Amino acid sequence: MLTMAQTVNDLHRITTSQLDTPPRLLLGPGPSNAHPRVLQAMSNRQVGHLDPAFIALMNEVQELLRYAWQTDNKLTIPVSGTGSAAMEAAVANSVEPGDTIVIGVNGYFGERLCDMAGRYGGNVVRLEKAWGDVFTIDELRSAVSQHRPAVLALVHAETSTGARQPLEGVSDLCREFDCLLLVDTVTSLGGVPLFVDAWGIDIAYSGSQKALSCPPGIAPLTFGPRAVDKLNNRASGVPNWYLDLTMVSKYWGSERTYHHTAPINMNYGLREALRLVAEEGLEARWARHRNSAEMLWDGLADIGLTCHVPLETRLPTLTTVRIPEGVDGKAVARTLLTDYNIEIAAGLGQLGGKVWRVGLMGFNSRPENVITLLGALERVLNG
Ligand SMILES: *Cc1c(COP(=O)(O)O)cnc(C)c1O
Repeated sequence: MLTMAQTVNDLHRITTSQLDTPPRLLLGPGPSNAHPRVLQAMSNRQVGHLDPAFIALMNEVQELLRYAWQTDNKLTIPVSGTGSAAMEAAVANSVEPGDTIVIGVNGYFGERLCDMAGRYGGNVVRLEKAWGDVFTIDELRSAVSQHRPAVLALVHAETSTGARQPLEGVSDLCREFDCLLLVDTVTSLGGVPLFVDAWGIDIAYSGSQKALSCPPGIAPLTFGPRAVDKLNNRASGVPNWYLDLTMVSKYWGSERTYHHTAPINMNYGLREALRLVAEEGLEARWARHRNSAEMLWDGLADIGLTCHVPLETRLPTLTTVRIPEGVDGKAVARTLLTDYNIEIAAGLGQLGGKVWRVGLMGFNSRPENVITLLGALERVLNG
C-alpha cells in the first residue's frame, strides 16, 4: 500500500453535475450565440499546432480574415485571447514610450484604449464627446494638426453607446500628418460595412464573439504596411512578450517558429465562422444586419420606446434603447433573462441607468429573434 506523509484534503473535492447550460438567447453587447456550425467545428479532434493540417488551416483563417476585412495585409492573424487581447496587441506594438496618441473617447472602449496606451508609455491625448455622439472629420483634423500624434485611435462601433464612427476620409488626414490610423472593429467586423484597405486603416482589431458568432477566445488583428514599418523601426522592443508581433508574426508567417501554442479548437471555430461570412457574402450579411436592426427599431417605436443614437450613425449590431421614466431598467433585464431566457444589457458609464443595450449580431441577427425580444419586452413592460 502507498503511504504518504501528507494526506489529501477533500475539502474542495465537490461533486457537481454534468454541465447543462440554460438555453439563453444572447441579445446583449456580447457574446452573441455561436452559430451551431461553429460549435460543431470546435469539437473536431485536435491536431498539433505545427501539423501540416493545422498550418493549412492557419492559412485559410488568414485568407478568410482578409476577405472579411477587405484587406490584402500580409500581417493578418487571430490573436490568442479575447477582443481585449487584440486591442492590447494593437496598442503594445504601435505605441512606443513617448509617442503621442490621440484617442477618440465617446464611450467605454475609447476609455479602455486610453488606459492601455498610457500603460505602454504613450502620451495620451483624449478627444472627448458625449456617449452616443461621433467625431466629425473637422474635429479629428483639428486634433491631429494640433497634437501631431504618431497614432490616431478610433472605435468604429462603440458597443457601449450604439454609435457608428464614420471613417471615410480619416485616413487622408492621417497620411497628411503622417500618423497611423488604428481602429477598433470588434462590433463591426462581419456586421457593418467596413473596408480596411479602401478606408486606409493601418491597424484594426476585432473579436470572435460579436458579429462573427464564434465563442470568445480568439481575436482578429491586422497591421498594414505603414504599421509594420513603424513596428520594424521601433527604438525599443515591444514590452509585452505574449503579444509581441515581431515574434508572433514568425509563427503565422512562413517561418512557423514556435512562440506559443495556438488555441487549436478556437481556430477551428473561427475558421467556420469566417467560412459562414464568405458563404453568405459581405453585402448580403451587412444587409441582413441592417434589415433586422430596422425591424427592431420600428418595433421599439411601436411600443413607445426610443433609440439613443440618431439614425444616421446608429449601429445595426448594437442598439441603445432609452429606459422610460419610472421604469427599473435592471429589473426588466433580469425578468427577460429569468422568465424568457433573453439576455440584454444595462448601460455603462454616462449611459448607466439610462439605456438598455440590445445586440443583433451575426447568427442572432434574424427576424424571429427580433419578434421574440419585442414580444417579451412588451409583456414585461406592461407587467
Ligand atoms: C467587446 C469589445 C471589446 C473587448 O472584447 P472582449 O472580447 O470583451 O475582450 C473591445 N472593443 C469593443 C468595441 C467591444 O465591443
